[in-house]
Amino acid sequence: MVSQDTIVNKLRELARNLWWTWQPHVIELFRELDPVLWRETDHNPVVFLDRIPPEQLVRRASEMALISRIDYAFRRLNEYLENKDSWGTIHASILRARPVAYFSMEFGLHESLPIYSGGLGVLAGDHLKSASDLGLPLVAVGILYAEGYFRQSLDADGWQHEHYPFNDPAQLPIEEAKTPDGHPVRVAVDTRSGTLHAKVWRVEVGRTTLLLLDSNVPENSESDRALTGRLYGGDARIRIRQELLLGVGGVRALYASGIDPSVIHLNEGHSAFAGLELIRMVMDAEGRPFGEAVRDVAGMTVFTTHTPVAAGHDRFGADLVEENLGKLREQLHLSFDDFMGLGRVHPGDHNEPFCMTVLALKLSRHANGVSALHGKVSRRMWHPLYPNRTEEEVPIGHITNGVHTLSWLAPQMKAIYDRHFGQNWAGRMRHPEVWAKASEIDDGEFWETHQVLKARLLEFVRQRLQRQALRRGADDREVSSFESMFDLDTLTIGFARRFATYKRATLVLKDAQRLARIVNASDRPVQLIFAGKAHPEDRYGKEFIQQIVKISNSEEFRGRLAFIEDYDMNVARFLVQGVDVWLNNPRRPQEASGTSGQKVAMNGGLNCSILDGWWAEGYDGRNGFAIGSGRTHSVPGIQDERDYADLMDTLASQVIPLYYDRDSDGLPRKWIARVKDCIRTLGWRFNSDRQVMDYAQFAYLPACGGQPCVMPHHC
Ligand SMILES: *Cc1c(COP(=O)(O)O)cnc(C)c1O
Repeated sequence: MVSQDTIVNKLRELARNLWWTWQPHVIELFRELDPVLWRETDHNPVVFLDRIPPEQLVRRASEMALISRIDYAFRRLNEYLENKDSWGTIHASILRARPVAYFSMEFGLHESLPIYSGGLGVLAGDHLKSASDLGLPLVAVGILYAEGYFRQSLDADGWQHEHYPFNDPAQLPIEEAKTPDGHPVRVAVDTRSGTLHAKVWRVEVGRTTLLLLDSNVPENSESDRALTGRLYGGDARIRIRQELLLGVGGVRALYASGIDPSVIHLNEGHSAFAGLELIRMVMDAEGRPFGEAVRDVAGMTVFTTHTPVAAGHDRFGADLVEENLGKLREQLHLSFDDFMGLGRVHPGDHNEPFCMTVLALKLSRHANGVSALHGKVSRRMWHPLYPNRTEEEVPIGHITNGVHTLSWLAPQMKAIYDRHFGQNWAGRMRHPEVWAKASEIDDGEFWETHQVLKARLLEFVRQRLQRQALRRGADDREVSSFESMFDLDTLTIGFARRFATYKRATLVLKDAQRLARIVNASDRPVQLIFAGKAHPEDRYGKEFIQQIVKISNSEEFRGRLAFIEDYDMNVARFLVQGVDVWLNNPRRPQEASGTSGQKVAMNGGLNCSILDGWWAEGYDGRNGFAIGSGRTHSVPGIQDERDYADLMDTLASQVIPLYYDRDSDGLPRKWIARVKDCIRTLGWRFNSDRQVMDYAQFAYLPACGGQPCVMPHHC
């Protein structure tokens, strides 16, 4: 007889390491223990296990014959944690004693840990997971938001409302971080308006640890207690204080935890104050002057910029900087003007605010954008900082983003890869030979699996639409009308992302009559599924959502176009795994990389995208669809007109005909051939294992050895 404690403890340990989030066999375990509760708890195993009494858990596990699978999962977790035979052991052993410290304002690891808003966070989460898989020594630093980013609901008018459920630490997979001698880690940062205190939590992400700062402690004033309440929710003062806590508090949290990093990676400029704290430490410990300390710290600092739009970079006025950084400035022995100069393109320009990206660029010797095109845009944008160089010589290279394959790949599609790609293909996923085998997959086998995933998506859409209608007070007839909507054999296009206006969610709706004719074409119909959140302050983004919802309720579009509320990683998984086509039509070159299309590509969907971000380098003419040829125009309205014309043309002349071109077995052979090209050419490149290895090779290893930057494009 198995002991009750053993089973329950094994499940709890599995729940406490986010490794389970990319192990389909563990996810299945939780689900099978209680499918309804699993969904009700938003796939949060900590809450889930809390809600089932231990006896019931054990009874259920034996009834369902899950005991040996729990043992197996537990054994696999421990093997994974103890595996010494990793890429990192061979290629990055120098980082073992002194790891990389990776700073980010948000981390998207799973929907049950809601401390992310979108692409930046998901990228950071995927980076940690790949660092873990590769055995690359890396410790991450972020913030535990008491409420996180908001949950979205729409009213009957299609207007977005925001909700902020409390993230109860007791219900999250986190523990108190401890100092080497076992005390809780606490950090304090002095400012002119009082000392800011924080406690520190730790999250295990496979072999990687994430430290999260939390200002909700009794020592703080009421307003500082609320500081880490919301992600991107506050005014400039809250923002600079959050960034002070992340950067300066983050460095202190690392050292208090006994971690002495050899490389600092700033994922976006939010955390750039970290560099100042390190400079202070070098000056204190070694008595070096500021200029020399800057050189040392910059040599070990890697900075990744994500924002191709000038207005999108954090900037703070002099008063806020002095209030919050004044104490640190004194310790650095800098005058107010010299300090402000660190955040200015023109240090002497007293009207110029303090820009976090400028600070990050000045405090790092290894800087990169997140796609080849974005690297180029960034070199142009920051050229004024380097007046003695040509634009080409601006020291910003690029490393293109990727996604964590096992987190985003549908288990059913993974099963196909398991059969065709060879033993342990996931451990070799950055090699083109592995993915070349995609051409051997049987068309029928592939299509059947794709249809299964698409059916899952459509069922999810119907259920969500019913739930949304119920909440808005719709009558039974309306609610049940959704049961028969959306059709498996209709070309299905997905569009889901943050509703930042540059992403132009409503572009395809520009001429509703024209779109109505397309979606209702009797022989070749089309259906569209939208999802996404607008920033609470972004009226235009909210109007875009409203416009989509209004159209979806009109007679011509009912059952052909839907908006799914509350986009998160769970909704994203359903969409990227089930759609036929992923639509992406940002205003080039404003999409620094974009990553959701990469998730679609590995799952057997095709991208239909503007040649921006990653797609500008991923598209080869045969592995998806391009909208236009990458032209831009200085007048946004003209660019939008042209892109709209190109979008409609691509849909009508390429996407729709190819999808409906069937052979006598009913298979779209040419479409499937294109999907296989997509998997073959994109799978090995746009995954986060390749991304982390690039960071290791081009940035981390040079930085920890004090070597010059070797970032692609040059530094
Ligand atoms: C992948 C992902 C993103 C990033 O999508 P983009 O293509 O960069 O817009 C944003 N949000 C969620 C929930 C995601 O899963």
